[in-house]
Amino acid sequence: MHVAEGGFDVPLKCSPEEYKHFVEPAMLEAQNSNFPSALDIVENGLNAHPASEGLMFLKAYFGYKIADTMSSELSSFPKVIQPLGNGALMVDGAMTSQLLGKFQEIVKILSEAEESINELLQVNPSSQEVVAFKGYIDSKKNQLGQESENMKATISNTPNIAGGFCVGCRKSISYDTQKVVFRKSSGSQLEAWHLPCFQSKVKN
Ligand SMILES: [Zn+2]
Repeated sequence: MHVAEGGFDVPLKCSPEEYKHFVEPAMLEAQNSNFPSALDIVENGLNAHPASEGLMFLKAYFGYKIADTMSSELSSFPKVIQPLGNGALMVDGAMTSQLLGKFQEIVKILSEAEESINELLQVNPSSQEVVAFKGYIDSKKNQLGQESENMKATISNTPNIAGGFCVGCRKSISYDTQKVVFRKSSGSQLEAWHLPCFQSKVKN
């Protein structure tokens, strides 16, 4: 069995029937970068042939491709933290929450891919391709997990450090949904502002 795009050439068991009904149609979708459809086809195949190693590998592979595509789309995501000059930082809370949601989605897809790979490893403990592919999935998962942990820590720590109220209007701040500006005060405390409050203060 040959998975062209990623350069995988994995000698995994796959019957001619599985190949004709599931692998070929899934590969056609994958050639058009339609990985979610390819994954659907393979998952249907696994419902009918749960022990098919070829289909199991493809399930992991297409899951990985979906996660990979999603995470490269994140690089075009608007920046959630922007410097405003003079040490002030703007954090877009709503965007940060969205980004964290995306991270979680990707990690969930990778975890499902990993389940397939773990099943394959049980039957092919010495397959270098399978081991290497598990390594790919793990490192991607760790990287995304680390990034989202850092972001979560920032978001959940800031109210403790900067308080829950805007220095400008004295009203409460929702760090999950609002755009917030952080700035060191003269007493080197961290102060938090609603973005509009900060902007109108700077203008005056
Ligand atoms: Zn305010």
